Formats: sequence, C-alpha cells, structure tokens
Amino acid sequence: MNRKDFLKSAFGTALALTGADALARHARPEVSAPPAFTLPPLAYGFDALEPHIDKMTMEIHHDRHHKAYVDNLNKAVEGTPMAKLTIEQILKNVSKHPAAVRNNGGGHWNHTFFWSIIGPGGTDRASGPVADAIDKQFNTEMAFRDAFVNAATGRFGSGWAWLLVDKNKKLVISSTPNQDNPLMDVAEVKGTPILGIDVWEHAYYLKYQNKRADYVKAFWNVVNWDQVNKNYAAAMKG
Ligand code: MN
Repeated sequence: MNRKDFLKSAFGTALALTGADALARHARPEVSAPPAFTLPPLAYGFDALEPHIDKMTMEIHHDRHHKAYVDNLNKAVEGTPMAKLTIEQILKNVSKHPAAVRNNGGGHWNHTFFWSIIGPGGTDRASGPVADAIDKQFNTEMAFRDAFVNAATGRFGSGWAWLLVDKNKKLVISSTPNQDNPLMDVAEVKGTPILGIDVWEHAYYLKYQNKRADYVKAFWNVVNWDQVNKNYAAAMKG
C-alpha cells in the first residue's frame, strides 16, 4: 500500500466510524494534501530517441532515477515550509537547506528540464533566435558546440553542462557537479539554463559505456531547439 492509498483507507475508516465530525477533523490540508512534487510523464515514448539514446536507458532514467529524486525530495520537504514553495524558489536559497534538498531538488528540476529540451525529430542545426544569439556570442555554432562538449566531457565525475542566460542577458556555458544547477545560490556561474546535458553515467552507460564523448556527440541529434528557443525567449524577458 502506498502512502496515498494508506491515507485514503485510513480516512475512509475514520469517516465510517465517526461520521461528519471526523470529516471536519481529518480533512486538514496536511492530511489530504498530495505530495508537493510529482514525476512528470515524458512527452514521447522511451524508444523515441533511438538510436541516439536507447529505450532502456530512458526508461530507467525516468522511471527509477528521476522518480527517486522526486520521492526523496518529497520526504525531505514534508512538514516543512518548503512543501509550499516552487522548486525554483527552493533552489534559489538551496544553501540554507539540508543536503537532501539540494541533491534531490536539483535532481528533480534538472531531469524535468532535460526531458523537455530533448525529443524526437531533432534537427541537424540550431534554429530560430537562439541560433543567431549563439552565432553572435560564440562566432559559429560549431565553436559553441566545441565549448559545450568540452564542458560536458571535462566535468569530472557526475554532473551537468549548461547553456544559460546570465544576469547581463549573455549566453554562457558552464558545468555543475552532482545535481547542482545555475539556478542555485551555490552555483559558480548563475543564470537561467536554456539547454543542458546530463553527464551522469546513468544517462549513457548502457549504450556508450565509458565513451561519454560519443554520447555527447549523439545528444545533438535529439536537441529540441523549439523548446530551447522558448527557454531563451523567457530568459531574455525575465
Ligand atoms: Mn540523470
């Protein structure tokens, strides 16, 4: 029995035993409130990114790894004022929170973001306003890709590489360890991520084993530039 079913059944029993008074007493928000954070479904099939990212990796990555971050984040915030905050509000002040919130809150935000900026039907090159901004900032898209690949392959151990808009509205590449990200007050380079890649081994090991560079190269085939453009527009406005 999961927590929700347990609450439902406990609630049902109380109602049956003591009637309407119990309803008033048991319908408190802390009893009936759903978990603060939920695992978002993928907008495409687990096999939709084949052959670049394989089905089994996607299934395990989403259903087990991301789910664990969500479950552990909910445990970490349950009964605290954080349960009522957005994930972005939590990450902004993450240095004030326990390590479980930093690790699992970052894990939840990062993966939700990652699923949105990859997808089937990727294009060979960047497109839209963000492509122009990339050319302007890095001279060419290839120069940008080289720098991004260096950030992704150069990150020692587990972490992420990012393309972000910084406070001066400039495009910047960075990388973060573990499940940190540029939204966190602890990040060396802060800003709004518009593109990112998970370089934890769980993101690529089944298909690419130790060859992280091959996975990063394959990543360009699944980038959803429409979403990156949406992120870019929002970051430039915000
Ligand atoms: Mn991951």
